[in-house]
Amino acid sequence: MIELPEAIRLIEGVARPLPPRRLPLLDACGRLLAGSIVSDVDSPPWDRAMMDGFAVSSEDFTSGPAGSTEVVELDVIVDLAAGDVTTLVIGRGRCARIMTGAPVPAGADAVVPVEAAVADTARVHAGGRVRLLDNRFRSGQHIGRQGAAFRSGQELLTAGTLLGSAEIGLAAEAGATHVLAAAPVRVAILSTGSELVPPDTVPAFGQTRNSNGPMIAAAVKLLGAEPILLGSAADRPEAIRAAVAQGLAADVLLLSGGVSAGDLDLVPEIFRQCGVEKVFHKVRLKPGKPVWFGVLEREHAASTLVFGLPGNPASSLVCFELFARLAIMILAGCPREAWHLPRRQARLTGPTKGVADRPVYLPCRLAESAGMLVATPLPWTGSADLLGLVGAAGMLCLPADGRRYETGEEVEVMLRGAASNAC
Ligand code: AMP
Ligand code: MG
Repeated sequence: MIELPEAIRLIEGVARPLPPRRLPLLDACGRLLAGSIVSDVDSPPWDRAMMDGFAVSSEDFTSGPAGSTEVVELDVIVDLAAGDVTTLVIGRGRCARIMTGAPVPAGADAVVPVEAAVADTARVHAGGRVRLLDNRFRSGQHIGRQGAAFRSGQELLTAGTLLGSAEIGLAAEAGATHVLAAAPVRVAILSTGSELVPPDTVPAFGQTRNSNGPMIAAAVKLLGAEPILLGSAADRPEAIRAAVAQGLAADVLLLSGGVSAGDLDLVPEIFRQCGVEKVFHKVRLKPGKPVWFGVLEREHAASTLVFGLPGNPASSLVCFELFARLAIMILAGCPREAWHLPRRQARLTGPTKGVADRPVYLPCRLAESAGMLVATPLPWTGSADLLGLVGAAGMLCLPADGRRYETGEEVEVMLRGAASNAC
């Protein structure tokens, strides 16, 4: 049995980022950019009308004061919708009727919005004359200048950027159809136990619904990794071996059950037979003591990281959040500061108790009060109790001292990712 910091150090020592992959732009959404994105165009790509109105030469206007009723009368020489271009030049006394998104024609240096046209001339087209109010006029108004946002050749996004919706849109504008992004981490998920039945089955006496499978798959998905569902295997060596062999094709195999000290805890031996080298087994921790971690090295291909998570669902999830999550974040190329769930100090709103021989993790609700994080211990019956984890934005992390913690005392809490947004 090893200590928690040692287990974490060992995982950090073994896990390596997967080589990045060239992905179609949309498939890279939610992933980290591994290269940079350089634009092949200016943005805006040319001087662009930003309003519907009339493209004019400022020399025709005197830039009268706000509210002026002076009027300038101009010949409309061309109609320009978005996508239209013209070689005509806007000289004195002339203008173009222009729609938002069209290139501003040569000679024009401002767009007067259609609202500034005297009412009966607002709808005139090429060949007509428009009367425009000469007030609050500025050269350059309502024109998006070429290159105002960025220039061709400019680096817009750098390696390590998380590709969200704005980044994907920007990459598309810059002409990137494919991007170099952190590879999706493929995570095989296998539950073991002869008692397990799928969630659509009403368990007979002695049977248990497989909750770990969907739960771990959900946790994997929330990290942006790719769960591969292998279902469940009965506690027979050949059944588990066949499923493990399948799971070893993934980047990470997360197996649950069968790793503690019972007669049918066959998993460590099966891992050994499959060539998975043990890195550690058992961590001084509650819940989650039986956790197993190893690696299958391959000569000419990437290795597979293998976790044996405890069968009890809450233990399984705690071990996922402490250990498996760390491995997946490293493989995904995430920066070091994102590897672990964040930890903070919080003030207790009610008493709780540590465990004498092991550090203990206990579910709690979190809130801010007077600039301080406050933690409310949640009722929880232990490692098989998932209901107690629902709504737990954090886990109290109490040292192995077995002592009672009083209301108002400060303790360490681990913030639980997505759930912590709910607090
Ligand atoms: P084990 O680690 O295999 O000794 O299992 C410990 C406890 O967790 C037992 O009560 C199992 O029935 C339960 N368990 C194991 N796997 C699962 C699972 N996939 N879903 C729900 N409970 C499980
Ligand atoms: Mg079992």
